[in-house]
Amino acid sequence: MVTGRQLRAAREAAAAVPDPELPMLTLADLGILRGVAAEGDAVVVTITPTYSGCPAMREIAHDLRARLGRAGFADVTVRTALAPPWTSDWITAEGRRKLREAGVAPPGPAPGAPAGPVPLTLGPARRRPVCPRCGSADTTQTAAFSGTACKALYRCEACREPFEHVKAV
Ligand SMILES: [Zn+2]
Repeated sequence: MVTGRQLRAAREAAAAVPDPELPMLTLADLGILRGVAAEGDAVVVTITPTYSGCPAMREIAHDLRARLGRAGFADVTVRTALAPPWTSDWITAEGRRKLREAGVAPPGPAPGAPAGPVPLTLGPARRRPVCPRCGSADTTQTAAFSGTACKALYRCEACREPFEHVKAV
């Protein structure tokens, strides 16, 4: 049996696994860790895949088993929950702070999200990210994909620095 204390340790270990594509973020920061539960002697970790174009789920499952194995959990099952679908709105405030610190512009509100208090000047279709270095909104997309499908490449017209932007989905 998995005790309550062991389950807490398993949760901590799972939450601390870095995302392969955004290694400055943990699975918890990214908001994809849905739950860690005990089923008999097994620990069951449920995650929701992020961008469908990101083939990272197999790597994440492998990393979860390795990390939990080191924490003393031999019997680990990783399940995926497809509903509700992940959106970039699930990235935590701490995750957004870590992205900015790493020079990556965090996503704006997800396109399908209920309309919040969005400034009219930005328009609903294409919200340009703010430069993570100088904070300027005068930015230009230079590549639709940067390394992975999750990220686009931008250039700041104010400080001239290129930066990556995690797309809003
Ligand atoms: Zn800038």
